[in-house]
Amino acid sequence: MKGHITCTICPVGCKISVRKEGVEYIIEGNKCVRGKQYAIDELINPTRILTTSVKVVGGKCDLASVRTSGPIGLSIIREKMEEIKKLSVDAPVKIGQVIVENIDGNGVSLIATREVPQRTSVREAGESKGTDPFFLTRTSVREAGGEDHT
Ligand code: SF4
Repeated sequence: MKGHITCTICPVGCKISVRKEGVEYIIEGNKCVRGKQYAIDELINPTRILTTSVKVVGGKCDLASVRTSGPIGLSIIREKMEEIKKLSVDAPVKIGQVIVENIDGNGVSLIATREVPQRTSVREAGESKGTDPFFLTRTSVREAGGEDHT
C-alpha cells in the first residue's frame, strides 16, 4: 500500500508519502509529528467535520447553519446528510444549540452555528422566504422573463 496525502492540520500543507511495509507504516515528508498521525488516520479511518444547514420552522429565516462538534467518519457523511435533510427545528435557534445529540454514535453532536430568532409577525413570515434558495430561484426566473411554472 502506497500513497500521498496533503496534511491539512496547518497552512504549511506538507505533502506526505505513506507506504506500508509488513505491519509498519513508513511516513515521509511531514515536517512535524502531528502530520504522521494525520497520515495514518487518513489511511485507516478518514474523518471530516460535517457542515450544512437544517430547516427552521417559525423563524426569521428558514435555515440555520450547523456543523458537527467534531470530526465524524468520512464513510457515514452521505448517510448523515440524508438524515439532516429530513430534519426541521423550531425557532428560536441559539448558536451552540444541540440539534442532534450523538449523531455519529461516538459522542459527536450536530450543533447550530447560526442564531435564528423566532418570527414575530406575518410580515416577517413573508420576508423569511428570502433565505429559501428555491424561492430565490423562482424569483430569478420570473425577473429574467423566463417561464415560471409556479
Ligand atoms: S506535517 Fe506538521 S507542519 Fe506539515 S502540514 Fe502537517 S501539521 Fe503542518
